[in-house]
Amino acid sequence: MISQPHQYPTSYKPWSHLKTDDPEVYSHIEAELHRQRYSLEMIASENFVCQSILAGAGNPLTNKYAEGLPHKRYYGGCEHIDAIESLAISRACSLFSCHYANVQPHSGASANNAVFLALLQPGDRILGLDLSHGGHLTHGSPVNISGMYFQAHCYGVDPQTELLDYDIIRERAKEVQPQLIIAGASAYPRVMDFAAFANIAKEVGAYLLVDMAHIAGLVAAGLHPSPLPHAHVTTTTTHKTLRGPRGGMILWNDNSLSAKLNKGVFPGTQGGPLEHIIAMKATCFHLAHREEFQTLQQKTIKNAQAFATTLKEHGCHLVTGGTDNHLILLNLLHSNLTNHKDSNQVTGKDLEAALDQVHITTNKNTVPGEKRSPFVTSGVRFGSPALTSRGLLTQDFKLIAKWVAQILESLQNQKTHDTEPPCFASIRKQVKELCSKYPLYPEW
Ligand SMILES: *Cc1c(COP(=O)(O)O)cnc(C)c1O
Repeated sequence: MISQPHQYPTSYKPWSHLKTDDPEVYSHIEAELHRQRYSLEMIASENFVCQSILAGAGNPLTNKYAEGLPHKRYYGGCEHIDAIESLAISRACSLFSCHYANVQPHSGASANNAVFLALLQPGDRILGLDLSHGGHLTHGSPVNISGMYFQAHCYGVDPQTELLDYDIIRERAKEVQPQLIIAGASAYPRVMDFAAFANIAKEVGAYLLVDMAHIAGLVAAGLHPSPLPHAHVTTTTTHKTLRGPRGGMILWNDNSLSAKLNKGVFPGTQGGPLEHIIAMKATCFHLAHREEFQTLQQKTIKNAQAFATTLKEHGCHLVTGGTDNHLILLNLLHSNLTNHKDSNQVTGKDLEAALDQVHITTNKNTVPGEKRSPFVTSGVRFGSPALTSRGLLTQDFKLIAKWVAQILESLQNQKTHDTEPPCFASIRKQVKELCSKYPLYPEW
């Protein structure tokens, strides 16, 4: 028997006034909420914030201009804004055990831009992880300002182990003589050794920037070594594993960098801060001190590992062979699950689209040694944070991994593209049942 979708009561929602004031936007928001409820969110950079942060982000602080820093503003009437931003700063410093924080960056990319402006001159050399090996666009890609205004160079992972090799990085650093080394990734499933990065930076006289956007929640929970004792500057997003509102932040310990970094944010690269979001960053840091947060982050890693193990049991090849954190990178170049000699070459784009058909949301991703374009790719990235926040258990992650392997195998065996492979319908039905079992924002 098919269970009925969970019946959501229609209690007060923060966006309910739009129903009369702007029904068009209201209906799109409702449709998006429905999509989130009835799909399995496995994009590694996404999460579901708790209801208090979601609702709390719609607050009157959005009305206020507060250019400057607490107690040093260009506008009057900032006493409550000052109290909230000061609280966010002190909570950020306490959570990550550091001396200084700027909580104003609108996003991870904005945080990085502020750091570049603060520490570099146009034309300086930067050294970051190759995009196709798991790096980020803001670490020197030619289509990003970091690759346009600076001479960007990259290091890669070891082609055999697919792990960072600090001897290779040291060699690259000696060749390039960068002013700034960037450690951090958006698709690297293993622990990073920030002390090793710091030693290399010291040897070549470069600043070390650690961008911990993906792993900040794990760091806050003590489940990944912290970069703060090692990096000159650390940037992060607040909305990935950290599970706060969408935004960025800069952290550091050396007071001689404070003026430069603060000016790098404002007036360097941003205008007025989003104080309504900064309030929710403060709440996020408060919640991250709790034991429940620690448990959530532990489960996030455990679920990612169970997902990885199940994929491997079904014959899938994972970049680095598994995961230490919240993300899994499936390598399609080596994952042939069929016995047919003439099986199809499935790309990241194909698998992402097929998973979308059964409402499992992922993203295609380049893999080390990538030969295809970033629009096609030979990998798919999965992450456990969102579904772990939603309450799914390890057994559920194993089930989803089994479905992913079934879908991949059916794509590899598919003879014609006119009809959908037979397993899709039954998986789609089971996805819907699993979603109903774990209602998202049930009060709404
Ligand atoms: C997500 C991410 C960013 C960018 O964050 P946005 O908020 O999307 O600007 C920067 N660096 C890394 C490593 C990331 O994973």
